[in-house]
Amino acid sequence: MSNAQFQQQINSYRAQVVAPQGLFIGGRVSPAMSGAMLESISPVDGGVLTTIADGGAVDIDRAVTSARQAFERGVWSRTAPAHRKKVLLRFADLIEQHAMELAVLGVRDNGTEINMAYKAEPLSAAATIRYYAEAIDKVYGEIAPTAPQALGLVLREPLGVIGVIVPWNFPLMIGAWKIGPALATGNSVVLKPPEIASLSLLRFAQLANEAGVPDGAFNVVTGRGATAGEALGLHMDVDAIAFTGSGVVGRRLLEYAGRSNLKRIYLELGGKSPNVVFADAPDLKEAAKVSVNGIFRNSGQVCVAGSRLIVQSSIYDRFLDELVAVTGRLKVGDPLDVASDIGAVSSDQQLRKNLEYVARAEEEGGHRLCGGERLHAETGGYYMAPTIFADILPDMTLAREEVFGPILAVMRFDTAEEAVRLANATSYGLAAAAWTSNLSMAHRMIREIKAGVVHVNTYGGADITVPLGGFKQSGFGRDKSLHALDEYTDLKTAWIAL
Ligand code: NAD
Repeated sequence: MSNAQFQQQINSYRAQVVAPQGLFIGGRVSPAMSGAMLESISPVDGGVLTTIADGGAVDIDRAVTSARQAFERGVWSRTAPAHRKKVLLRFADLIEQHAMELAVLGVRDNGTEINMAYKAEPLSAAATIRYYAEAIDKVYGEIAPTAPQALGLVLREPLGVIGVIVPWNFPLMIGAWKIGPALATGNSVVLKPPEIASLSLLRFAQLANEAGVPDGAFNVVTGRGATAGEALGLHMDVDAIAFTGSGVVGRRLLEYAGRSNLKRIYLELGGKSPNVVFADAPDLKEAAKVSVNGIFRNSGQVCVAGSRLIVQSSIYDRFLDELVAVTGRLKVGDPLDVASDIGAVSSDQQLRKNLEYVARAEEEGGHRLCGGERLHAETGGYYMAPTIFADILPDMTLAREEVFGPILAVMRFDTAEEAVRLANATSYGLAAAAWTSNLSMAHRMIREIKAGVVHVNTYGGADITVPLGGFKQSGFGRDKSLHALDEYTDLKTAWIAL
């Protein structure tokens, strides 16, 4: 498809009126019991896009009851894997057929630039659903090597009702990482979308239902974290919560589990990921280009963003010049314009938070090389210039705290020991990268940097075949790959006397 055709398709959805949205429980759309609604503000222009139901504890209870009943009836949980595969493949097809509709709706809700959103949201979600659909009739149980007088079978069973709580940066992609393996293994799901980006996930659930996921097997309760999210975390009949979001909320979920039924909690949290560039990187221009993309795509609102750039002293100035030049060519603007490289920051609150980090970095002695300001304020939207701070020291705020915005902290190093020390000088451990032509050095970095993924001579980029998750305070549990199936199933032993 040419750019012009792509833009034409985008335009056909961009002005569509979005009706007020209800909850999706038991295969039906219904209002919150309280009747309360929340405004959904578009970061594209700061206007009200629509309203969503402000679900509360009573709505969460309705959804969990519906999910439990579907699970116990066996209408999904006890169907043949081949049946679930067929339904989920149909679901993946429907997501693809509605890809532009879903992508534009999501962009109007969260401001991600459309080229990225189209691929990372509906298309990647469809690929994820398809991956788990294909996997589920190819995973076997075990026969244990017992003595001949007994037969030990190791079976895998679905857990029951899974609560899924996701953030606003990539709701469909991250949602699918959890919903895919949860549904494929026969569980029922109650999803609590992020309050500022619920729209595409509501449509997603309807498409699942249309594809044949039975009523009650996949429910969506929109609402605030402190009410609907907390109620899901505290519910006595939820078996596990699969969560992606901040460490603050992750800690709360662990408390909720302790105060309720000891449900399992899987946490994919934030990062402050180091991107280490050695002087012998194979191509410094390419390293600069990829590093810029690694921090600024989606306005830095990416959990694995390479937000700490650690550069060897001998190339420090040269590399920074290249970095600033590449950054200067990025076009920040309307996320529904195919010519934009970066769209809007997700909310007014997030924009203010970013600007506070800029002020703080300056107070603490960081050296601003570019950016630092709000852009296009006349549109009413929340746009921010990509920002680079050089000469950041390990104890400065920008070296320690996750901004989740378009702000890069640059640090320098001389030796490999120093690079590793700086890379690991954070409470997080989500992602990292090392750029070097030295194979031994690359392996040393893979071994010594404490992170769930270490890239070599690239930044970002991976697919559904490899796990994603954190070390240290970036959480525990793994999304993606066949390993994710373990989180949604329990092992049961059958011991049979022969
Ligand atoms: P957040 O933690 O504020 O919110 C995440 C979700 O939790 C939302 O749906 C929210 O409504 C809900 N929530 C809020 N309070 C709650 C409560 N008390 N109980 C239950 N649920 C509650 O995070 P955010 O601002 O939406 O997202 C940004 C964060 O997500 C960043 O820290 C980012 O690094 C992280 N993230 C991590 C990954 C990963 O794969 N590791 C991916 C994307 C984003």
